[in-house]
Amino acid sequence: MLFTLSVHASNPLDADAEAALDAYLLLIGQDQHQEQQQLERVRTQLLNSPAYGSQTRYLAMQVLHHLSYDEQETWEPALIKLMEHARAHPSGDVMSEALATKIYALLRQDDLNAAYKTMVELELFLPNAEQPRVRYFAHNLLGTIYLRDNQFELASQNLHAAMEAVIETEGERAGIRRTHLQSQLAQLYADMQNLEQGLELIEQAISGAKIYLPDHLPEYYLSKGYIEGELGLHEASIQTHYQAIATAHEYGYQGIVLLSLNNIGAAHILLNQYQQAIEPLKQALALATELEDELTLQLIQMNLGYIAVKQGSVDQGLQQMRQSIEYFRQHGRRSDLERFLGDFADALQHAGYTREEAAVLREQRELNRELFTAERERTLAEMQQRFQAREQAHRIQRLEQDNALQERTIENKQLQNRLFLLATLAAALAGVLMWQLYRKVRHINRRLKEANKQLEFQSLRDPLTGLYNRRSFQQRMAKRWQHKEHRHQGEERDALILLDIDFFKQINDQHGHAAGDDILVEVAKRLQHSLRHQDQAIRWGGEEFLLYLHRIKAKDLNALVERTLYLLAEKPFQAGGQSIVVTATAGFITLPFADISEEQLNWEKGLQLADLALYAGKARGRNQACGVTGLKVPLETLISGFDQQQSISLEQLECCDVAGPEVQRHPLSS
Ligand code: GH3
Ligand code: MG
Ligand code: MG
Repeated sequence: MLFTLSVHASNPLDADAEAALDAYLLLIGQDQHQEQQQLERVRTQLLNSPAYGSQTRYLAMQVLHHLSYDEQETWEPALIKLMEHARAHPSGDVMSEALATKIYALLRQDDLNAAYKTMVELELFLPNAEQPRVRYFAHNLLGTIYLRDNQFELASQNLHAAMEAVIETEGERAGIRRTHLQSQLAQLYADMQNLEQGLELIEQAISGAKIYLPDHLPEYYLSKGYIEGELGLHEASIQTHYQAIATAHEYGYQGIVLLSLNNIGAAHILLNQYQQAIEPLKQALALATELEDELTLQLIQMNLGYIAVKQGSVDQGLQQMRQSIEYFRQHGRRSDLERFLGDFADALQHAGYTREEAAVLREQRELNRELFTAERERTLAEMQQRFQAREQAHRIQRLEQDNALQERTIENKQLQNRLFLLATLAAALAGVLMWQLYRKVRHINRRLKEANKQLEFQSLRDPLTGLYNRRSFQQRMAKRWQHKEHRHQGEERDALILLDIDFFKQINDQHGHAAGDDILVEVAKRLQHSLRHQDQAIRWGGEEFLLYLHRIKAKDLNALVERTLYLLAEKPFQAGGQSIVVTATAGFITLPFADISEEQLNWEKGLQLADLALYAGKARGRNQACGVTGLKVPLETLISGFDQQQSISLEQLECCDVAGPEVQRHPLSS
């Protein structure tokens, strides 16, 4: 006979220990020794205590304490202890706190993969967490990670859940947490281009910071000034940056002073107030020199050079810009270089240096394309990884469901045996049950299949436009080679048309990134509809598209290119409530090209030639196409140019031009 002992449900929290842990929080960052003593005090308080909730918090603090002092040998055992403790008391609160701490530790070690796997587990337990403090900690952590990862939807859900948790807590820390979250949400909205809401939140964070976090004010003012600039409120942005400077002086945050001065100068430039831009930029220059911040120094030089060009000292200004660009080429981040090349091209255009402008634009586009591909590949790899981690977690759930199915089948059999007199009824009952279970399993299988299909779709398609991506085109070309299609003889050839939208950056600037996205989607639609089923439209890069035509006559190709230019330019695009004229410039080539076999000149090289032709079209004023039809030099000269990575020039090629329709462009600001 078994007796059930009635035990009092132990209270998982110990009020004294919790107070001591709160006191510990206030000590952080002051004196390592005192912190340690306080933790030791908590440990003795909790000895033999049944308060496993407080024990979890104490063990988590231990991990964070060792981590913050980089004590490699101690934080790892502390984490193991925390996890063992948590698994012995697997409540929503305990598991969430422990797992969130583990994720924090993994991120500190840059082990993103392991962190993502643990996030899946945390997301299983977190809905059952009750303590506001734990919910705040975990949701804030997840929100921050997703924000950093540009997963805006998930970031938003988690940061808002963290905010809800904060509202339920009291005391001084609630104010600090709320303010901190408001600034995070402001950043989220700014990243999502939801600028008005971003501005509202950063203003709330600033009010909060005046009471709870005065030393964060400079940073928040800097964010506010940035958002105002993005909104085109350049005058307000200048004022706010001066506030950032004033508060930053109080705390000696020289870096913020420097950035603000430069941003003030940039805002004046955007307002065409070149003379007023010079003073703050000169101050910034002095400060950057003092701080030995070479990168920012070059950035300021770029701005000053740009002003010089605009004010008529063309050669001196361009020289200054060239030097800075050279510096960025060698030391800067590539994404920064890409942006600065755009400004440089702008100045060259203003000065009428078209040749150099074309070269700079070309370099910028190469970079843009590289960055785009690298970014796509990174996202794809991460997506797959996350999918696998999620899939593992789901598989565990499915196994559990399978077990349930078996148990219920056995139950059915027992039922049948025992109630054999009611056999018909029992059979009917079992039938219904089995039918339901069968449907459930089928449903799960279907979902799995759908998920796999989705994944395959995503790896071959561009997520924005749904067009094929580079990878799928490369696959297609590999198959074409395998099936020896490139050896096809006759009047009809395959062809490549590379298309780049004109002035797309300005379209983004004037109508917003979301409108830019809408236009890309519509361009994709128009291109897709104009093709035959054997052709392929590919999103080649940001605003670049590639059309692959399977077997087309030379004269039909020219007509098709012309039709494509008209297809885009003739009917304005509707986006962001506006009617926007969009044109594109194209370069094209047949495969094989001239009488050269593809063994000698493969499609990649053909595409490079089309790219060169595209660039000629850009330099000649855009809204036109340029086709490469033959060689003016011996083939060997061209091939050795490719082999030795020398630049191949348009003068070596025979070309034909196709004009786009006349368009009425809105005046474009530069
Ligand atoms: P050009 O006539 O010389 O081609 O001028 P451009 O402004 O189109 O040239 P550039 O290649 O410098 O600019 C392309 C811009 O396209 C830069 C980037 O911000 C934008 N872009 C790239 N991908 C996307 C996207 O997915 N959505 C939106 N909205 N913009 C994008
Ligand atoms: Mg481009
Ligand atoms: Mg473009």
